[in-house]
Amino acid sequence: MGKHTGYIEYDREGPIERKPSERLNDWGEYLQTHSEDSMEKQGARCMDCATPFCHTGIQIGRSMIGCPTNNLIPEWNDLIYRGRWKEAFERLIKTNNFPEFTGRVCPAPCEGSCTAAINNSAVAIKSIERAIIEKGFSEGWITPNQPAIRTGKKVAVVGSGPAGLACADQLNKLGHLVTVFERSDRIGGLLMYGIPNMKLEKDIVERRVRLLEAEGIQFITNTEIGKDIQANELRESFDAVILCTGAQKPRDLSIKGRELKGIHFAMDYLTANTKSLLDSNLADRAYLSAEGKAVIVIGGGDTGADCIATALRHKCKSIVQFGKHPQLPIERTASNPWPEFPNTFSLDYAYEEASVQIGNDPREYSILTKRFVGDGDGYVKELHTVQIEKTTDQHGNTFIHEIPGSEKIWSADLVLIAIGFSGPEVEVLQAFALKQEKQQKMEAENDKYATNIEGVFIAGDVRRGQSLVVWAIREGREAALVCDKYMMSKIK
Ligand SMILES: Cc1cc2nc3c(=O)[nH]c(=O)nc-3n(C[C@H](O)[C@H](O)[C@H](O)COP(=O)(O)OP(=O)(O)OC[C@H]3O[C@@H](n4cnc5c(N)ncnc54)[C@H](O)[C@@H]3O)c2cc1C
Ligand code: SF4
Repeated sequence: MGKHTGYIEYDREGPIERKPSERLNDWGEYLQTHSEDSMEKQGARCMDCATPFCHTGIQIGRSMIGCPTNNLIPEWNDLIYRGRWKEAFERLIKTNNFPEFTGRVCPAPCEGSCTAAINNSAVAIKSIERAIIEKGFSEGWITPNQPAIRTGKKVAVVGSGPAGLACADQLNKLGHLVTVFERSDRIGGLLMYGIPNMKLEKDIVERRVRLLEAEGIQFITNTEIGKDIQANELRESFDAVILCTGAQKPRDLSIKGRELKGIHFAMDYLTANTKSLLDSNLADRAYLSAEGKAVIVIGGGDTGADCIATALRHKCKSIVQFGKHPQLPIERTASNPWPEFPNTFSLDYAYEEASVQIGNDPREYSILTKRFVGDGDGYVKELHTVQIEKTTDQHGNTFIHEIPGSEKIWSADLVLIAIGFSGPEVEVLQAFALKQEKQQKMEAENDKYATNIEGVFIAGDVRRGQSLVVWAIREGREAALVCDKYMMSKIK
């Protein structure tokens, strides 16, 4: 364990954030890596709680508990408390291919199920993870390792998000020849063109891709499977195919006025901004600017928050975010006990920044957009809304009611729709003749990563729906094992 009395002696040190007034002027990461000294103290707070939940990654009741990649958290907490960073690093990379991503963007379900968090504050697990992997890079402990033996089996991974990358990494380590196909111009999936630079700088993604390349993985960009290369052609050229194509089909808002100009999907806004930033530091103007505009983001989730942070950096005139749910409670409720992930109110980076730049938290709760109204020239001018409330009957069925008299008109000249994703794009799945469930999740016949087509596997958001980077990594790792078993069973 860490220090016997560590959790009594030391307070939790939260993430180190750059000041909003400073970071709003650039696109750099808002979080920073802690010093070794401070992390050793934070590791000491881990109290060897006998049955730790932080690393479990299991379902209890309706909730997933702990780290989905089963990171060996109590072990590395103890090791860094003792200054044994190299061993902590070795433990960390046993279970997580890309701690430099999760150490930055993971919502840290591990911390929600940390025993210290029952009546105190959780061990700073995510910050420790980031500090360990960054020390691994700076000390030169991470070097490309080609596998000693090649099996001669060839596998195609379609899609280069965290699921595809984790899958490719595992299969390459097992000695297979891996080619990753990506339709975009850069590798990384939503790590590259979804999560904004302020949360994950893109040279962190490229650093890992270079390493994977040096270890023998081949990356082919600007190539859409099912269009540039046909599914059959791919199946004939490779011993197995793993589809890690994500679930990026946006959910739309089919209400009056949706066709007006100035209404865009959040992902189009975020993707174009990152591409322009990387291509030309925004000099090419090949992005949708929010500069001087009254912006409304529809959708109360994290993608909406990322739009807010981006629009603030564009120097928007005003910004509001509509969410359909009420404000979350400050403390856990009885229906959301430890060790579940705490569904409580928090001030995400974007809201903190909005408070500094425009003077208020931009969130509006329990609000429903009824229609968009144009300015007569085809551009959006107004949103008409109503407040809503949820009620539950004696059978547990919930109903949404509009509150009479709560109608309101909001001015806007840029509207971003961030109400989630309806599932995977079906074209590539149809190209492989895969069966689909009603909710567009893929059917798995033999186990959860195999499909109805022999030698074709699926993993990541395409299988489980929009999720988290850490879940994509877990899925990629597990699917690689299933695929390896399949390919090796074919060796005579
Ligand atoms: C705006 C935004 C912010 C997010 N922020 C966070 C966060 O902070 N923390 C977190 O944990 N999670 C976050 N997520 C969720 C997380 O990014 C995803 O769950 C994760 O990236 C899923 O990984 P994946 O590999 O399954 O798919 P993706 O990352 O979606 O990658 C799929 C890839 O497949 C490619 N592809 C699709 N079809 C084809 C084809 N036919 N041929 C070739 N290539 C193809 C796509 O271009 C894409 O690059 C965020 C998501 C969004 C949208
Ligand atoms: S990957 Fe996420 S859940 Fe797992 S230890 Fe890191 S921050 Fe926690």
